[in-house]
Amino acid sequence: MENRSLLQSFAMDKEGRIRSVDEVARGLACECVCPCCREAVIARQGDIREWHFAHVADSECEGGLETALHLAAKQLLLEHRGMTVPEIRIQKEVRLPDGRVGIGSTYRPERWVDFTEVASEKSVGQIRPDIVAVVGTTMLFVEVAVTHFVDPDKQAVLEKLGLPTIEIDLANFQGERWTWELLAEHVIEHALNKCWVHFLDEKALHDEAQASALQAALATPLPAQEAVCTSVAKAPRTRFWVKNRMVDVIERPFGLAIWSPYDPELNVLIKSIMQSLGGRWQPRFKNWLVPLEAKSWLLRELGERSGQPPEVI
Ligand SMILES: [Zn+2]
Repeated sequence: MENRSLLQSFAMDKEGRIRSVDEVARGLACECVCPCCREAVIARQGDIREWHFAHVADSECEGGLETALHLAAKQLLLEHRGMTVPEIRIQKEVRLPDGRVGIGSTYRPERWVDFTEVASEKSVGQIRPDIVAVVGTTMLFVEVAVTHFVDPDKQAVLEKLGLPTIEIDLANFQGERWTWELLAEHVIEHALNKCWVHFLDEKALHDEAQASALQAALATPLPAQEAVCTSVAKAPRTRFWVKNRMVDVIERPFGLAIWSPYDPELNVLIKSIMQSLGGRWQPRFKNWLVPLEAKSWLLRELGERSGQPPEVI
């Protein structure tokens, strides 16, 4: 969205530096050109209108304002060698196979980053970001959007490169002209009109959110229905093979029931074990019931007489 009331506040001097209309001599003496069409401009420093640059000749140039502002923002980033970067919030959801869901998030507040290196108009692969900086061990791209924002094609390339990128939005400036102070607030000091196209440390932050979501899911109690299923689940049963006959120990809330097929010889053996462990014969169920406290003794006694390791079924 172009701001039609915005005046051209910056122009380029003989050395190629961007100058604000406040810091040059009045009129043609400013010795500046429009950075878009390279035609001479005059510094209008009148009493009525806001100060601004204007092309000397009648000009068809329409990009002067945008180009000058874009270059001014880049010059600030090159000179300040750092900027405030916006906060980062990442939210993840994890769904466990048992139906439990957890939500985890990662948050980093806005902060200042120093550029150990910074350059403009430097190509990286197929793209040429406005600013290429180095923050710690990572490259950081900065895009300054005056009217042109990062388009989907460029964003796709950025995603592929996996490199952190910030976009600074200068399009919605509500005023007639920019000054260096105002521009520094927006480009360098504040993070309000900046957004991440691709986060710094993106992979690590996503992993962190994922881990916290997983932790939250695991900390959630099982749904009520699942809990009921667990409590009515089949009683645990340990199977032994004694004298080639199966002997099952079935764990009930009130004791250990012993089940085996009819075999006179086996029955005598089981009876002696059960009696030694305080077991009771239950005529109604035709099985022995041993107190739960005797479990380890019972398993050991049967294990010693079993030809193979017991199976839990
Ligand atoms: Zn121009």
